[in-house]
Order: sequence, then C-alpha cells, then structure tokens
Amino acid sequence: MKYDFLSKLGIKSVNYGATTGSSDGWLKTNGNELVSISPIDGQPIASVIQAGAQDYEVVIEKARIAFKEWCMMPAPKRGQIVREIGDILRLYKEPLGELVTLEMGKIKAEGMGEVQEMIDIADFAVGQSRMLYGLTMHSERPRHRMYEQWHPMGLVGVITAFNFPVAVWSWNAMIAAICGDVTIWKPSSITPLTAIAVQNIIAPVIDKYNIDGVFSLLIGKGSEIGEAMINDRRIPLISMTGSTEMGIRIGEVVGRRLGKTILELGGNNAIIVTEDADLDMAIRATLFGAVGTAGQRCTSTRRIIIHKSIKQKFVDNLAKAYKQVPIGNPLSDGVLMGPVVEKMAITAMQAAIEKARKHGGRLICGGERLTLKGLESGFYISPAIMEVSGDCPIVKEETFAPLLYIIEYENFDDALRIHNNVPQGLSSAIFTTNLHYEEQFLSHLGSDCGIANVNIGTSGAEIGGAFGGEKETGGGRESG
Ligand code: NAD
Repeated sequence: MKYDFLSKLGIKSVNYGATTGSSDGWLKTNGNELVSISPIDGQPIASVIQAGAQDYEVVIEKARIAFKEWCMMPAPKRGQIVREIGDILRLYKEPLGELVTLEMGKIKAEGMGEVQEMIDIADFAVGQSRMLYGLTMHSERPRHRMYEQWHPMGLVGVITAFNFPVAVWSWNAMIAAICGDVTIWKPSSITPLTAIAVQNIIAPVIDKYNIDGVFSLLIGKGSEIGEAMINDRRIPLISMTGSTEMGIRIGEVVGRRLGKTILELGGNNAIIVTEDADLDMAIRATLFGAVGTAGQRCTSTRRIIIHKSIKQKFVDNLAKAYKQVPIGNPLSDGVLMGPVVEKMAITAMQAAIEKARKHGGRLICGGERLTLKGLESGFYISPAIMEVSGDCPIVKEETFAPLLYIIEYENFDDALRIHNNVPQGLSSAIFTTNLHYEEQFLSHLGSDCGIANVNIGTSGAEIGGAFGGEKETGGGRESG
C-alpha cells in the first residue's frame, strides 16, 4: 500500500464492511465490493466488501444482546470506557487524521482537527456520565414525591455524511454510550475506510471490557443498509447527518413508525457585513469560511450580504486573497485548499455558476477545473466568487463546493430579510461594530439559524454548545 499510515490503522487492500466492534467481531461480509477513491489523485485507496442483509441481522441482534448488559452498567463506569476510547484516539490522531485527508480531501490540519473533536467529545461525555441529572418536583399529592429519570433508548442508528467522516460518529456514539445506548454506524459510501479505521482503533478497548455489540459498523448503500435501518422498529432513534433531500426521506420513514430522529442537514450560511464593519477581519473570516474544506462544511460561508457602500472594496480585496490561496495536495504542508470530494461536485459548482449567470450574476473569479502536476486525475477547482441579486433562485440552494455569492443591500432590514430568505437555517454571522445591528441580529427577529456569530465566521463548531440548525437544516441538536 502506498501510504504507511494505512497499515497502522489496520486498513488492508480489501476489507470487510461490518463489525460488532471487538477485534474478532468483523463479519465475513459478501456484499458488493466498494472501492474507495482518493479525491487527491482520483486513484483507488482500498476496497470494502459491503454488508448484506444477513450481516445486517447479525449486527442488529448482537447490538440488542449487548444493550441488555450495557444499560445496566453504572453510567460513570460507561464513562470510564469512553475515557479509554478518547485515550486510544489520542494515540492515533495523526494517522487517522491523514486517512481523513486521503479519503475525503480536507487539508491535514483539518483532518487532525476532526480527530481532536472526537477526543474532545469523549472527554465531554466522560464528565456527562456523572451528570445525568433529573429534576425532582414537589407533588400536589400528600406523601408523594416526583422525579425525572433518564432511561436509555436502546439501539441508535448513526448515519453520517462524507464531509465529517469520523467526528460525527463520535458526537453521537460517545454521548449515546454514556447514556446506556448502543450504536450502529452507517458511514457515507464515499468514506468507508475512515470508519473501518475507527473501529480498528477502538477494538482493544472493546476487547478489554468485553463489550462486543456496543459500537457496531455496517458499510453498505444508503438505499440498502440505510433503508433497512430507518425502517427497522428495533432502532428507536436514527441520527442522520447529510443532505436535506435524504433527511426528508429519513424523517418521513422514521416518523411513519413514530421513531425518533436527530437530523443534521444542509446549510446555506451567510455573513452580513455592515457599513461600519472591520473589513480586514470580515475578509479573513470569509476566506476561511468559504474556501476552508473546499467549501464542503455544512457551515461553510455561501453568501455575503454586504452594505452597498463597502461592497466594491470588500470584493476587490477578497478576490486578491482568493488568488493567493495555495491549492494542492492536502497532505502537503502549506496547502490551504485541497480537492472537492468527487467529480460531481465540480460539475454541480459549474452548473450553479451557469444558473446564476442566467439570472444576471457576474463571476468575479474562479470556477475553473484545475489540473495539478502529478495529480492530474484529482478533483480540483478554483474557488469562485459571484455577484448576484438576493432573489436569484440558485442562491437559495446549497451548492456543496467553494462558491461564494455576494449580495449587496441598502438598509439593515433588507439585509436581514435577504439573510433569512433561504430554506436552510444552520449557521450565520454578522460583522459589525454597531451594537444596535448586533442585538437585532441575535434577537428572535434576527437570524433564523441555529447558530448566530458576531465578528467571527460561520464555520466551525464547539462541542460545548448545542450544534444544529432550523428550517430545512432539520432542527437536530448534537454535542453540548
Ligand atoms: P448525503 O445526504 O448524500 O448522505 C448522507 C448519508 O445518508 C450517507 O451515509 C448516505 O449513504 C445515507 N443515505 C443515503 N440514502 C439513504 C437512505 N435512503 N436511507 C438512509 N440513509 C441514506 O450527504 P453527503 O453528500 O454525504 O453530505 C453532505 C451533506 O451533509 C450536505 O448537505 C451538508 O450540509 C450536510 N451536513 C450537515 C451537517 C450538519 O450538522 N447540519 C454536518 C455535515 C454535513
């Protein structure tokens, strides 16, 4: 294998795609072979024999058996096991971060940052394992007391997106674990190897405590394994991260059986830049938010809503900064933008640019497919800035690529109206030095998103605060 870190993570050239968690929990799956392609050079990394219907049954039944014991273990003891998972992840931070980069294309610092989030949420969960408080209430009946007690739900299905291939699993699995739940993970078919690596890393902890079935993995198509999970009454909660389109399907199917969902779906995040804003600060935040992870974060900045009087200066300076972004192999030091995840993302971005053009949009820079020396089959594109009007229809869609729209406004009420006039509601930001604007933005009549930032960009999440969005972003909350 071309990369040393693959063997450190137990990745072989052909891997099985289902496990109940322990080191001998891998099932000899016999579904279709799935080849994982690196967006860096368009070349295969390794392949996975996907799970079939029989493997699915084995995993679910094992999880059901494991749940019966796991839920009886005291929560602080479950917390201790989660602590050891956090510890072992610390040892593998670098190779796992590198694999995230290789399989998904985000730069190495971001790949490692993602693993750090896994470690952080493990720490958070350990603390939480001693804080599963409930209220006590005075009863209106004599000689009675009332109290709330949190009970585990059972099996939790965790369906994850390609762009945070490992962190999102831990956001769900670590919290579920301390609550006494067991998780079954179905990762994106674009990033199966990172999921296999995570299971390999945590297997020694599972072996040590003999808790096979608490953290399971099923790799298979959304239309097969995913559908089986969302239709399965043995799984009372499905936590799904992905596109709004898939989220609607999952919400409908799970809702029909009155199961529960946590839906973390698409965003269309904007920054309002007012006439008095610190422009340098706003430009830095925009660059980081729109170009970081090649525009493939759910919280990526997709729209700048800027006061007319400062628009031109902002655009000129931003375009200059865009041209200086080092684009290349995300495993190399000094590179700030890697590839997008697949060829389709390039096609979708170029199609969005064309649609915006048809509605009078003006391309300021970027949007060309790049052919990099030695990485000719990789999926690289130059990040684009487009000036459009607020009512341009494509602006209301989430294009999962480094495409930023600039929309000008004249008065602040218009800015807020444009800001909220999209179906999604994940993250938002305002750059201003005016307290009145700031307070209006943060009030219930301001940003309609789950996350509202002031003088800091839209992207990024901290595990200490509840993360999630409103409207078509699904209403789910994860972490704090
Ligand atoms: P996607 O919707 O294509 O896939 C998400 C997951 O759903 C994958 O594991 C996929 O296999 C699975 N799936 C597909 N069909 C299914 C079905 N019928 N039943 C069950 N599962 C099914 O998303 P993606 O392209 O991997 O990720 C990008 C999207 O995710 C973007 O829209 C982004 O904004 C969103 N996202 C949101 C958040 C958030 O927290 N709000 C975080 C990360 C990504």
